[in-house]
Amino acid sequence: MALLPIVTYNDSVLREKTEKIDENSESLQTLIDDMFETMYNSSGVGLAAPQIGESIQLFVVDADAIPDEIDEPNEGPLVFINPVIIETSGEEVRMEEGCLSIPDVRDDVLRPLNVRIEFFDRDLKKQEREFTGWMSRVIQHEFDHLQGVLFLDYLSAFRRRLHRSALKKIDKGLLETEYPLAPKKQGNVT
Ligand SMILES: [Zn+2]
Repeated sequence: MALLPIVTYNDSVLREKTEKIDENSESLQTLIDDMFETMYNSSGVGLAAPQIGESIQLFVVDADAIPDEIDEPNEGPLVFINPVIIETSGEEVRMEEGCLSIPDVRDDVLRPLNVRIEFFDRDLKKQEREFTGWMSRVIQHEFDHLQGVLFLDYLSAFRRRLHRSALKKIDKGLLETEYPLAPKKQGNVT
């Protein structure tokens, strides 16, 4: 197992359209293990492949890493390959989000309470599940990464401006984190 450096805000891989995974392989299984290790090391609850520089349709989640969410079933580690959101439902809920690729920036994002999602698990077995609450939130955030969408994209221009200096700092590679970041490629602050 290995820790993978996390790609940060403004790296173009976070904005790319991701490729479908078409077969199981030893290297895919190793990548999944490494992504879990990387996620746990950075105290994250979800990690999508573009965040470690792989433009493929894969994310991992272990949202029970947050100990005060005891009202929801303990799902443990989950792997989502080639996921498709079938529908979202329920009220729009406002909840604070952060992202390992955008360290030190947090803000409220509105998302529907429930998500029904089709995906392949790590054995490439097809699954269809509905999630609610915190799990649904994390899954929707990670799914967005596979579409090149960041939680910042949901914020108003005003809210984004409030984060401008923090984003610049990340973009210039000046931010210190407790987990390894990928070396900065060129980009523009948007
Ligand atoms: Zn994220």
